[in-house]
Amino acid sequence: MATQAKSIAVLTSGGDAPGMNAAIRAVVRSAISFGMKVYGVKRGYNGLLHGDFEEMNLRSVSDIISDGGTFLYTARSPEFNSPEGVKKAADMCRAKGIDGVVVIGGDGSFRGARDLVGEGIMCTCIPGTIDNDIACTDFTIGYDTALNTAMDMIDRVRDTSESHDRCSVVEVMGRRCGDIALNVGISVGALATLVPEVEFDYQEEIIDRMKMAQATGKKHFIIIVAEGVGHSEELTRRIEKDTGIESRATILGHVQRGGSPTLRDRVIASRMGYHAVALLKSGSDNRVVAMKGDDIVDYDITEALSMERLFDKELYKISYKLSI
Ligand code: ADP
Repeated sequence: MATQAKSIAVLTSGGDAPGMNAAIRAVVRSAISFGMKVYGVKRGYNGLLHGDFEEMNLRSVSDIISDGGTFLYTARSPEFNSPEGVKKAADMCRAKGIDGVVVIGGDGSFRGARDLVGEGIMCTCIPGTIDNDIACTDFTIGYDTALNTAMDMIDRVRDTSESHDRCSVVEVMGRRCGDIALNVGISVGALATLVPEVEFDYQEEIIDRMKMAQATGKKHFIIIVAEGVGHSEELTRRIEKDTGIESRATILGHVQRGGSPTLRDRVIASRMGYHAVALLKSGSDNRVVAMKGDDIVDYDITEALSMERLFDKELYKISYKLSI
């Protein structure tokens, strides 16, 4: 029979995302309900390497479900990212009697968990990142909050853009993944949305469309640019020069990473946190917890890391049809 974890640790790693606290809370409370010991690790793999963790009780995670960020702090750990570092972290876990770790983070953090499994520590992973750039899951924790934050901010930009008959170019987060840009673009009625997954023709898809829309009486425009496409300031100057329409660039940046998580992120985080612990309890490890539609599923970490992300080309097409 598979070994069941009796004492586990939870950490957040890589970039922070709203809802990570809800996931930590779910891990701690689930572990205690299963009769396990549970430790909270500070600053990701750094804390694991250096023994910076403490045992959690039911009250350790009170009043955090609505907080953004992560109360365990997060970090990137170059020291852990080496065979010696991984071994040192595994030795630290053994020294403290920890046989399982729940890792909340992105793809990089999952690679670290896979390596820890190789050193004999059971691990399960929870996808936490606002970008929604993890192939095996339909939703990551923090994505829904980031979408809603960006939408609210752009609604404000739109008010002033409308008052001045301007074109607003707004850059949203998403380095390798245009999901935020695409969905926010639809939600604010952007004329064009530029994402890293799709090549675009500047003249045809921006200038010609702006002129076509102008001919039907449209006076203000919003263009969404994903971080991975970049060059928003340059694009803004070019649009102003080519159309004569006063144009402004806004880069939303890290406001999208903060704030109180939405209901959806809190519920997803709670369900994923419970599932990650239930797996360890049943002796199943080396798994990434994921959402498939409305269901919680899990995949082998290596399999999850090798999956290819699929961009929703159909939705992209619809966004263009509606935005003229
Ligand atoms: P994210 O988890 O958000 O993708 P990173 O890619 O920065 O963020 O990874 C977070 C941490 O995970 C790194 O600082 C490192 O400690 C660990 N990590 C990343 N890649 C690997 C790897 N290939 N092997 C072991 N650990 C890794």
